[in-house]
Amino acid sequence: MIVYDLICAQQHRFEGWFGSSEEFTRQRGDALIRCPMCDDAKIERRPSANIQVGRATIPAPETPSPVTEHKDAPVANVEAQALKVIRRLIAETDNVGRAFPEEARKIHYEEAPKRGIRGQATHEEADALREEGIEFMSVPDLFTRDLN
Ligand SMILES: [Zn+2]
Repeated sequence: MIVYDLICAQQHRFEGWFGSSEEFTRQRGDALIRCPMCDDAKIERRPSANIQVGRATIPAPETPSPVTEHKDAPVANVEAQALKVIRRLIAETDNVGRAFPEEARKIHYEEAPKRGIRGQATHEEADALREEGIEFMSVPDLFTRDLN
């Protein structure tokens, strides 16, 4: 799962969740990604600290592709979808709190049973984990502060 920060031609910012970078490219090419505010299909990615993907799946910079108009394309309720995914992740993971970097490492190096965990990490800790090739996803506090 990849979170992209997206921006429409009217400068509205929103997040989109995709199974892979190819999925994002395909959906954008088919004009399936719509701005939740104005229904614009001219969507670009914008760089942000909230983009968190495994090292192996960081997509190459993309060139904008022509967008066709499909008036009957489904309008994705991006925020509701994101929230649903995050709530599911939270329900299926153990909260290890500040021990997250340590636990993630143990699981990665098979010193602990493989399981889904969630918790907090500083930017420095997150960078270090990523450099070790440990895959995880960061979500903005916005989504999790009511749920922990
Ligand atoms: Zn918009």
